[in-house]
Amino acid sequence: MSVSPRRRTVTVDVGGVKIGSDHPIAVQSMTNTDTADVTGTVNQIMDLAKAGSELVRVTVNTEEAAAAVPKIVDTLNLYGVRVPIVGDFHYNGHILLKKYPACARALAKYRINPGNVNIGKKHDDNFRTMIEAAVEYRRPVRIGVNWGSLDQSLLTRMMDENSRLPEPKSARDVTIDAIVASALLSGEAAERHGLPRDRIILSAKVSGVQDLIDVYRLLAAQCEYPLHLGLTEAGLGAKGIVATTAALSVLLQEGIGDTIRTSLTPMPNGDRTEEVTVCQQILQSLGIRSFTPQVTACPGCGRTTSTFFQEMADQIQTYLREQMPVWRENFTGVEEMKVAVMGCIVNGPGESKHANLGISLPGTFEDPVAPVYVDGKLLKTLRGDHIVAEFIGMLDRYVESHYAAQHEAVSI
Ligand code: SF4
Repeated sequence: MSVSPRRRTVTVDVGGVKIGSDHPIAVQSMTNTDTADVTGTVNQIMDLAKAGSELVRVTVNTEEAAAAVPKIVDTLNLYGVRVPIVGDFHYNGHILLKKYPACARALAKYRINPGNVNIGKKHDDNFRTMIEAAVEYRRPVRIGVNWGSLDQSLLTRMMDENSRLPEPKSARDVTIDAIVASALLSGEAAERHGLPRDRIILSAKVSGVQDLIDVYRLLAAQCEYPLHLGLTEAGLGAKGIVATTAALSVLLQEGIGDTIRTSLTPMPNGDRTEEVTVCQQILQSLGIRSFTPQVTACPGCGRTTSTFFQEMADQIQTYLREQMPVWRENFTGVEEMKVAVMGCIVNGPGESKHANLGISLPGTFEDPVAPVYVDGKLLKTLRGDHIVAEFIGMLDRYVESHYAAQHEAVSI
């Protein structure tokens, strides 16, 4: 089953990254450093950008953070890192954007949470001030609703209206309606305050998988704004990754979502770039975008009783990941390459034939040989102590000969 056509008609330009319409679904991430710490934040942004984050958001929560933003962007420019930086504002964004024009100029987009800028109240001056800054500096905004900070006056009003219906909806359904309404009403208010439609992105994040699916289906059906998709507060480790993947996959398969983020709680001293890798892997697994050559590896079983097979699969995956920054520069299309690393001859040759390059390692009690298939044909049988090194050499030569039009074909 192929991915449904995308139905957004609006495109938003965020510092050169196009979001919406038929543009590639952009991967984004957020730092967890103190934004006032210029060095720490720059280092993390560089890591995230190197991992493939196409937008990076930083919190702008204090005057010190707002003052640091232009220094962060200048430093990134000095290092040649051009990733657009998005400012995440809550409560005091109207003050900071006005008081720190250099911050407003340095940011490529402002995130506004309608739940904490007075929108829906009689005087939405805070919201209007932020939109006016976006208009003045010609910046797009993301209106990011989060059910943890949902506009309570809107929710109360909708709950009251619902209670007067002959057949009231459940509180859960009214809450979902309120989340969607908050995003849509805020988008309309931003347009009323002068922000063009093609500078507005919406998001409406919740932390439950089924809730998120319902929210985004409703949102997508009722507007043409590009949608930022993510499961908020997804959590730690496998739970966070699986829940995010489950929610995003359903929606992306329906053509919903123009930019995505994975909100993982990192382990202590964990790698922040994991949230980028997870986004990329979701898109690549669904066949929507390609980022890195994919390794098909069997899980191993009683036929692979030594750790040799796991070590080899790991060494090849690591090599591919480390080579990608270099290959991407020189070899067009290398990210589409498929590699199979299989544990024995039961499924090894069959799976290898479906890959560009595939190797079947010798299972327990099998002959100590490793047949290698290239583009579906048995090319060579490796044996001895240097199987990994020889296979990696074949990988290198395959990349050089198949993905570089400017290079002459190399025999592998
Ligand atoms: S390919 Fe071989 S080693 Fe891998 S899971 Fe299947 S039977 Fe087990």
